[in-house]
Amino acid sequence: MLDADFFRRWMAATAVSVDREADRLTALDSPIGDADHGSNLQRGFTAVAAALEKEPPGTPGAVLLLAARQLISTVGGASGPLYGTLLRRTGKALGDAAEVGREELAAALRAGVDAVMTLGGAAPGDKTMVDALLPAVEALGEGFAAARAAAEQGALATTPMQARKGRASYLGERSIGHQDPGATSSALLLAALAEAAGE
Ligand code: ADP
Ligand code: MG
Repeated sequence: MLDADFFRRWMAATAVSVDREADRLTALDSPIGDADHGSNLQRGFTAVAAALEKEPPGTPGAVLLLAARQLISTVGGASGPLYGTLLRRTGKALGDAAEVGREELAAALRAGVDAVMTLGGAAPGDKTMVDALLPAVEALGEGFAAARAAAEQGALATTPMQARKGRASYLGERSIGHQDPGATSSALLLAALAEAAGE
């Protein structure tokens, strides 16, 4: 079973990898965006890690709700409200259970990804974070390592896509041939989840 400590480790591991990969995320956001995705998420997840350390919440749902609040209030770009919505909706779906199973987390994350699609209006194939998140939550039923691999594959698969949502969509066909920064950071989020699970 996955307890609050597991969810804190997930968020802490995400903060570490976003920090390590910030330059790469910003470099990916340079040709098809405004070169701020790495710094946006670095600011956001640094605030998440600090808030969780200061006052560690006692349930999985509360950990994700606190993380969501930090992302929404500290990240200016599109990705802040989108990741905030992902974690808030997932946290709400987990309710106030002290421990949750992987299947419950998979169902909750599915609700979170649905909320991201509703908020941002992106469908699979639009070259956004959805292209990594959706295959990952679908694979989570098989295990954490499968979800990580699916997110990584999903991020790589955005390269030949033409962007239909977000800043990259302004470029039309010129968005083709570049990996989406948000799909790439979503793969980091799923890799951190697998890491927290020890996989
Ligand atoms: P901004 O585009 O405001 O500068 P970021 O650079 O932090 O914000 O994030 C860009 C990423 O956000 C994109 O690579 C994409 O994955 C994601 N994104 C942007 N718009 C949407 C949307 N409508 N739906 C889903 N994801 C989106
Ligand atoms: Mg940007």
